Amino acid sequence: MSRYEQYINEERLKSNFVKMVEIDTGSCEESKNGIEPSTQKQVEFAKNMLIPILENLKLKNIKIDKTGIVTAFLKGNIENTFTIGLIAHMDTSEQAPTGPVNVKIHEYEKGDIELLEETIIDETDLKPYKNHTIITSDGTTLLGADDKAGISEIIEAVNVLIEHPEIKRPNIKIAITPDEEIGEGVTYFDIENFGADIAYTVDGSEAENIESETFNAFNPEIIIKGIPVHCGHAYKKMVNAIEVASSIINKLPKDEKPETTKDREGYYHVDSIIGNVNKVVMKMLVRDFDFQNAKKRIEKLKDIIKISEQKYKGCRIELKENEKYHNMKEKLMERPEVIEYAKEAIKRSGLNPKEPVVRGGTDGAMLTLRGLLTPNLGTGGVNFHSKKEFISVQTMKKCCENVINLVNVWAEKFEI
Ligand SMILES: [Zn+2]
Repeated sequence: MSRYEQYINEERLKSNFVKMVEIDTGSCEESKNGIEPSTQKQVEFAKNMLIPILENLKLKNIKIDKTGIVTAFLKGNIENTFTIGLIAHMDTSEQAPTGPVNVKIHEYEKGDIELLEETIIDETDLKPYKNHTIITSDGTTLLGADDKAGISEIIEAVNVLIEHPEIKRPNIKIAITPDEEIGEGVTYFDIENFGADIAYTVDGSEAENIESETFNAFNPEIIIKGIPVHCGHAYKKMVNAIEVASSIINKLPKDEKPETTKDREGYYHVDSIIGNVNKVVMKMLVRDFDFQNAKKRIEKLKDIIKISEQKYKGCRIELKENEKYHNMKEKLMERPEVIEYAKEAIKRSGLNPKEPVVRGGTDGAMLTLRGLLTPNLGTGGVNFHSKKEFISVQTMKKCCENVINLVNVWAEKFEI
């Protein structure tokens, strides 16, 4: 047993987690309007569940700001003002029904877990969890381990640190954000006010992972204006915007799509098309780990558009590049210890640290670019954003231990 594992209260960790996932906190892209969280249920969760838990811990400066971000502070016990930030998100993804969640607990041995006839968690996903306690929904909703596992692990780590003042810690600042799943988790995040020197999001999957590398992302929007004419008089006059859109899609490289790429390969993805003969709006995702390559992909898109404009005389095509986020790796390399200490913490939990690339973005990637270095730690959750989402209590415990170790590693480095 590694050093702090014995201090973690498994029952408390599990019951806090279950209590939180039962409440529906789905965010909603459609209803985002201004700085307030996209759904009122997130604010209610923050006020009625999250803040009372933080108050119970007697943390200082517990606040919810007008953007829905909840923050709290735990003073360190070393002679230093260094502050580490721990961040998780309260919303869940609208890609699956978000709740209310009926939790099921399984003492897992082997085989599939059949939640419903149409919701079966495959044995291949469950293989590493023999003899674990597995938490799922009833199969009609997602579970919400993404990211209530992150919240519960941070809270349990803080519980342990308060109960065991002999464990050295720097100052700790916690932030629980709304609307991460719709890409707005840190849009209004006030880094200066938060006051952390470095931070970690606890929002990944495997316990042994420290994620420091994300895509460079553009979400281009292509607006095509055709020439609508009555079909009876269309000969040599009509330019159909739908056909122009289809010609653009046909020119995209076939082997550079999300479904045909993996690991470090980038892609073009057509995410939605809305329109008619007169006008089509096409939304895309362009991703690459290398920033220059991401830019080249945008240039290629411009070339394709030019060719289509020449072919379909009279149509007008507008491209909005919409740069979204950058790979945080480069910026993180300015302070390699941010990753090194996380690896050290994971090792102390008895795990073999891994540094996989994230084929997506994290809130931490955006914070990193704005100056607060924030890689991502695992939570233990599996099958995020689906009705087959599950988590093992034993893995959650490991992730919590990682957080305790991490705080402790930073304290050791700063202790005078
Ligand atoms: Zn998440």
